[in-house]
Amino acid sequence: MKNNNFIVMAIDGGAGSGKSTTSRLISEKFNYMHVDTGSHYRLITYSLLSDGILPNDEELHLNLNKFKLNSVITGKFCKLIIDGVEVSDDQLRCENINLNVSSFASIPSVRSLVFDYQRSLVTLAEDNSFSGIVMEGRDIGSVILPDANLKLFLHANADIRSVRRKSDGQEDSIKLRDKLDSTRKIAPLKAPVSSIPIDTGVHSVDEVLKIITNQIDKL
Ligand code: C5P
Repeated sequence: MKNNNFIVMAIDGGAGSGKSTTSRLISEKFNYMHVDTGSHYRLITYSLLSDGILPNDEELHLNLNKFKLNSVITGKFCKLIIDGVEVSDDQLRCENINLNVSSFASIPSVRSLVFDYQRSLVTLAEDNSFSGIVMEGRDIGSVILPDANLKLFLHANADIRSVRRKSDGQEDSIKLRDKLDSTRKIAPLKAPVSSIPIDTGVHSVDEVLKIITNQIDKL
C-alpha cells in the first residue's frame, strides 16, 4: 500500500561536508532509507580499476554494459552491489579510489548507468515500509530527485572538511575533488534550486539535526 506521507529528502554537498553523518542520523530518527550515492561512484570506480580499466579507456563502455546492479538493505542503509560481489567500506574509501572517483564520475555513461537505479530506490524504500528516503550526493536535488520534498545543501570551509577527513583516517584531496566535481559539464556540484543551505562548519551535528527536524515538521 502507498504511504501518502512518504518523504523524499535530497542532501547534496562537497566532500567532507557532513552529508553521511547527517543522513545516517536522519534515517535513524525518522525511519528513512539511507542511500549514499558517493558509494555508488566509488564502487563503479573500484570495479573498473579492478578490471584494469582507466577513465579514458575505450573498453570502459563495454564493461559498463555488463554490470548488474542490485541492492542490499541492512538496517536503514541501502547498499549497491555490482554483479553480486560485496566490497567493504575500507576498500571503497582508500586513497586510490579517492584519487580516481571524480574522473570516472564525470563520464556521461557512468552517470547514466546509475541514473535509473538511483531513482528506482524511492519505490524500493516505499515497498520496504520506510517512512521516507534520504539520498545524499552531488546531484540529488538537481538531477536525480528534483521533486524531492526537502532539499538540503551542506557546506563548510575546505580546511574544516580536510581536518574531518584526516580524523576519519583518510588521505583525501578534498579541494581537488571539489574542483573536478563542480567544474564538470555533466551534473556539476552546486546548490540545487530551492535547497536550504546549512553551514556545517558553524552548526554542530545536533544543531543541523534540529534545523532539518524543523523543516520536516513544516512539510
Ligand atoms: O560522497 P563521496 O565523497 O563518497 O563521493 C565520491 C565522489 O563520487 C565525488 O567526489 C564525486 O566525484 C562522485 N559523486 C558524484 N555524484 C554524486 C555522488 C558522488 O559525482 N551524486
